[in-house]
Amino acid sequence: MNKTITKSICAVMIFITFLTGCAARPASNTASTTQQEAEAQLEKELGAFEITAHQRELAADNEAGYRVLDAGRGNPNWINTQSRYAFTRFMEFALGESERVMKDESMAGHAVKDGIGHRFDEAMNPAQSADSFLIKAVDYCVSNMGINKDDLIKEMVDGIIGDYYPSPSRCLRNTEKILNAYLESTLYHGENLAGSTTVFPTEGGTASMVYIFDALSHNRLLNPGDKIAIATPIFTPYLQIPSVKDYGMVSVDVTSSAENNWDISDDELKKLEDKSVKAFFLVNPSNPASHALSANTISKLKTVIEKNPDLIILTDDVYGTFVDDFQTVYSAIPHNTILVYSFSKLYGVTGWRLGLIAMNKDNVMDDLLKKQPEDVKNYLRGEYSIVTDDPDNMPFAERVVADSRSIGLYHTSGLSTPSQIYMDLLALTHLVYENDDPYIKLANNLVSERYKALMETLGLPEDDNDANAKYYTVVNIRSLCEKHYGKDFADWLYKNVTEIDFLNALAQKKGVVLMYGPGFNAPDGTVRISLANLNKEDYIELAKRMFELLDEYYNEFGGKGISSPAA
Ligand SMILES: *Cc1c(COP(=O)(O)O)cnc(C)c1O
Repeated sequence: MNKTITKSICAVMIFITFLTGCAARPASNTASTTQQEAEAQLEKELGAFEITAHQRELAADNEAGYRVLDAGRGNPNWINTQSRYAFTRFMEFALGESERVMKDESMAGHAVKDGIGHRFDEAMNPAQSADSFLIKAVDYCVSNMGINKDDLIKEMVDGIIGDYYPSPSRCLRNTEKILNAYLESTLYHGENLAGSTTVFPTEGGTASMVYIFDALSHNRLLNPGDKIAIATPIFTPYLQIPSVKDYGMVSVDVTSSAENNWDISDDELKKLEDKSVKAFFLVNPSNPASHALSANTISKLKTVIEKNPDLIILTDDVYGTFVDDFQTVYSAIPHNTILVYSFSKLYGVTGWRLGLIAMNKDNVMDDLLKKQPEDVKNYLRGEYSIVTDDPDNMPFAERVVADSRSIGLYHTSGLSTPSQIYMDLLALTHLVYENDDPYIKLANNLVSERYKALMETLGLPEDDNDANAKYYTVVNIRSLCEKHYGKDFADWLYKNVTEIDFLNALAQKKGVVLMYGPGFNAPDGTVRISLANLNKEDYIELAKRMFELLDEYYNEFGGKGISSPAA
């Protein structure tokens, strides 16, 4: 298939343009060229998104009159119920606590701490499943984490009722302990970092990214002209979030490919040794390729960092729980790494907006702040002195929180408290089962079975490597054609039908919507199929329809005697 949209390093510049968001320096000439390139690329990227939107319209009205199969989206089609039942039940308990204090029609008071743990025990009925879970969850916090019971339940009651500003603004005290335990259990691969990690709950993983980049650039830890390395292919919105500002930065692609099982090769990793590369941004397991970095690559990355010790690594691990024995880069390189996590996918809570930023108490951002030139320090002193007496020693983690509300409104920053309590409950659905979480297994099996059904029907080899999260898969249409129809046809199709035309035809004729691979900086001829939002049978049907369309092209090509391999 033809290259219709230039796969380009510039795609990443859009993102980089966004990175520079907050800093308030004038643009240099070179930078504005980068800016123009970035804007040009942005139009192309948005073009790719319009294409998908257009495909949805075509599919709705498809010629075959088929039911639409939209495997473009990453929004899961499952939800976690245990946490939601628990939330409802705990809200009921909390309302009882409020009405105990004062009750006049639909008005009640603020809950009181004294005796609250005892009243919780009285109210919960172990024979009811939501109650039984809440009993176990509270017991876990008290027995395994040493949290005071009255303190915990009071925090949760106030939090779920939402009658106080979040305090501390960054994260409620017990919530931070619970989230730390969750992150350690799901992502750290046995490293004990819960005690040394600072957590900032946010309105989702995407908000986390915005906050981090704003703070990095505002604090001059990233500056115009700095090189930023990006692990590609990558999540499109991260290529797209452009607060179009006055200047750009230079970006470096650190590429992974199907040939290397979507892992990063040594040569690519070596790019990070260059000290002019200031930050490295990755999604792990990746999107669209949906593969985790191997332990080997992570240990090599560690060696690379020794040569570029000031490198800031930013890892988005939203799909971490979809890989068995997952290991986050944060656990191997805690000093340099900022971790972003989101509950959106695993628990089906995309509408809640629940994510977080985690970083070590001992981190390179704080070291770099101390090493800044005096003029920058002065500038930042002025910026943060409105919210602290000791701006020089304000940790980067707190600056991220302050910057999320333009500093001045630091004291009203922080995620809504009911959202923080819901995060507690989500984390506890995992923690109470220790390392044998039945829900995580269900989610992993669900996407695995869909993947298997799809690959079997496509007649493609399954990749059962542990690193494969199977949340999405990238399918190379050219290789698929070569395998089933021969090289001549594959070449003919590549020459005569653009990838966009193919995707449009798939929508218009067969009612199938897929994502355009190069829109993620994935190779030409690839499509991303989400395994999150359709049922197993739908993936079989989807693959069959792909072959129906390819059969039609094959006839047009003049090929005879081959019908769908899946038929
Ligand atoms: C879906 C997704 C997220 C989730 O973002 P939220 O804002 O938490 O919903 C984050 N990162 C990547 C790479 C994703 O694909």
